[in-house]
Amino acid sequence: EYVVFNGEIIERSQAKIDVEDRGYQFGDGVYEVIRVYNGKMFTANEHLERLVSSAEKIGMKLGWSIGELESLFATLIEKNGLGTGIVYMQVTRGASPRNHAFPPAGVAQTLVAYTRDMKRPVNNFANGVKTILAEDIRWLRCDIKSLNLLGNILAKQKAAEAGCYEAILHRGEKITEGSSSNIFIIKDGAVITHPANNYILNGITRQTLEKICAASGIPFIEKEFTVADLLGADEIAVGSTTSEITPVVEVDGKHVGDGAPGHVTKKLQSLFDQEIERQCGK
Ligand code: PLP
Repeated sequence: EYVVFNGEIIERSQAKIDVEDRGYQFGDGVYEVIRVYNGKMFTANEHLERLVSSAEKIGMKLGWSIGELESLFATLIEKNGLGTGIVYMQVTRGASPRNHAFPPAGVAQTLVAYTRDMKRPVNNFANGVKTILAEDIRWLRCDIKSLNLLGNILAKQKAAEAGCYEAILHRGEKITEGSSSNIFIIKDGAVITHPANNYILNGITRQTLEKICAASGIPFIEKEFTVADLLGADEIAVGSTTSEITPVVEVDGKHVGDGAPGHVTKKLQSLFDQEIERQCGK
């Protein structure tokens, strides 16, 4: 199995990270996960642009261009013979004697990427998933896809311990997003989701859904909504690179709608499937 390590593709066992790498010590870096279908990356450009933008937001200028990254990952996918799965990538501010302030100029960033086989979660697509509510205790720059995920991890663990798939986060009364997904409620035929600001990660799945809705005449409304709006929604869906569009059938043990995936969510799923097919083939 091969990995991308800095600018090269090498055997995973040959990749060595320094004990003072800033990603390891501080979570000082950014990452992305790109879906791969039929050996082809889905919405690759959007993900790589977000990687560049996340890096810029923490004062890092990426040492690789989008074109270089895309071709490195395409080669990695081919060398690893990946069909359906993901490419995970992260870039840290590099290895340097421990000090909170940025390292001196000239310290090289550390880039790592690997692939993983991952089937599409078709049972979840068909049956929906259970969720819990959890207070959003994260920082105020959730728009950055940073390696610091403790707030997300603690929420996801709470969900896992409750036998649930996802934790839906709220800051007081306002729903923000999932621990590793965006949240959509459907009310009277319209899709409603939190505005893309510093309180959420603007998901690529979210952006794809917005385009799909625009093309199909489904209202897509970006506005704040409350825990009460969530519990009173006709339908709820979570969206992410790995979850795609997954229906939510339960929140804190209470049924959503009639407790089965709703028809608007099913329509969104089928439109999303078509987009995958368009970009990556059948
Ligand atoms: N929000 C958070 C906190 C996430 O971690 C993720 C993805 O992992 C998302 C939203 C969805 O983003 P995307 O659709 O780009 O995968």
